[in-house]
Amino acid sequence: MIEKSGKISIYNLSREDIFEWSKSAGISTFYAEKIWLNLYRNKITDFSKTLDLREDIVELLEQTFYFNKIDLIEVQKASDETMKFLFQLADHSHIETVLMEHKFGKSICVTTQIGCNIGCNFCASGLKPKKRDLETSEMIAQILAVEKYLKENEGEKITHVVVMGIGEPFDNYDNVIKFLEIINDDKGMAIGSRHITVSTSGLAPRILGFSKENIRANLAISLHAPNDLLRSKLMKINKTYPLKQLFDAIYKYIEVTNKRVSFEYIMINNFNDGVEEARELLALLEPIKKYAYVNLIPYNPVLEIGFERSSDERIKAFFEFLIQHKVRCVMRREHGTDIDAACGQLRSKYLN
Ligand code: SF4
Repeated sequence: MIEKSGKISIYNLSREDIFEWSKSAGISTFYAEKIWLNLYRNKITDFSKTLDLREDIVELLEQTFYFNKIDLIEVQKASDETMKFLFQLADHSHIETVLMEHKFGKSICVTTQIGCNIGCNFCASGLKPKKRDLETSEMIAQILAVEKYLKENEGEKITHVVVMGIGEPFDNYDNVIKFLEIINDDKGMAIGSRHITVSTSGLAPRILGFSKENIRANLAISLHAPNDLLRSKLMKINKTYPLKQLFDAIYKYIEVTNKRVSFEYIMINNFNDGVEEARELLALLEPIKKYAYVNLIPYNPVLEIGFERSSDERIKAFFEFLIQHKVRCVMRREHGTDIDAACGQLRSKYLN
């Protein structure tokens, strides 16, 4: 994003970009490295606070770049420690970021767009059309702001990143890929690629593109239904990329990367949660059983949308069917049911 002053956000630059800019400005690689470390190791938010940099370089940085403004408006904390952050961006748009507590650490769920055009029928975010894509810098700023909050309040580090918040990441592809590069950089935030997951609603051509990226982040597919009829009722995107096309892309992705793929499946009462649907899901996953990992997620009801959460018995029967047929599957714990935990609910409530 270029400000009126002509400056650009420093968080839009990868380490390679910083080195290129430095080279063109006559700054040595020694100092380029220091700029990067100041940003992502020392976490400076003011160039005058940089360590070990010459004054003329600081001046040039101040003339060229700015730090994103992202204001924390509200924090909600659930009894299970899930936290939801509502932020206001420089253009007064609002976004949500969620922090989840797991046995293995803390994972942050990052938003990639303001609103979303995919329009899934079960999602609070889909109720508002996309206003714009987020800049890479605005995704980075979410992590830095939550980290700052944690440092001031609890002191624990973020260990995992899931790109699963508001928006379709592959509809903002280039900015998301640069974001992944920055957070994965081993001299910066150093979040390992195995700790990063990108979730898509099923933009088949982008899945093929993602298989060829240098970053080896995990892929998750928001599947939610095992046949075109049900899936098209839930997700408009299925009309553009029906299951055959989606699964052809997934098979190709696995062939190229040899990586496992997670399948997100929200359990909606008497809609997609019967043993018949479990059987259809099994048939879809049969050719890639070795690589598939199914997450069954109890639906988090959204006030404006009519669906209900499946009963525990139906979820259990679905789960057991898959396990009996050797599909790796987990029943995911619900996060933050006592706060507005479904994606986009806090923002929707705030906007209303
Ligand atoms: S589930 Fe994701 S892709 Fe679908 S409308 Fe919501 S934010 Fe968009």
